[in-house]
Amino acid sequence: MPNCLYCQQDNPTGADECENCGMPLPALADLAPERRQRRFLWFCIGLTAFCVVMFFWLPRSIH
Ligand SMILES: [Zn+2]
Repeated sequence: MPNCLYCQQDNPTGADECENCGMPLPALADLAPERRQRRFLWFCIGLTAFCVVMFFWLPRSIH
């Protein structure tokens, strides 16, 4: 049960906003950095995969 920081209203689990005053609940605010971090991790994995594909796909220079 996330408790509203502004009006101390108890809200159902999984609610994004307070039912009483409509402000975002702290549970959602705590989740945001972790979600952003995971997105960054997948970006790094994708970038690495892209580099590996390009390494084999592009023709090598002949010396
Ligand atoms: Zn509230």
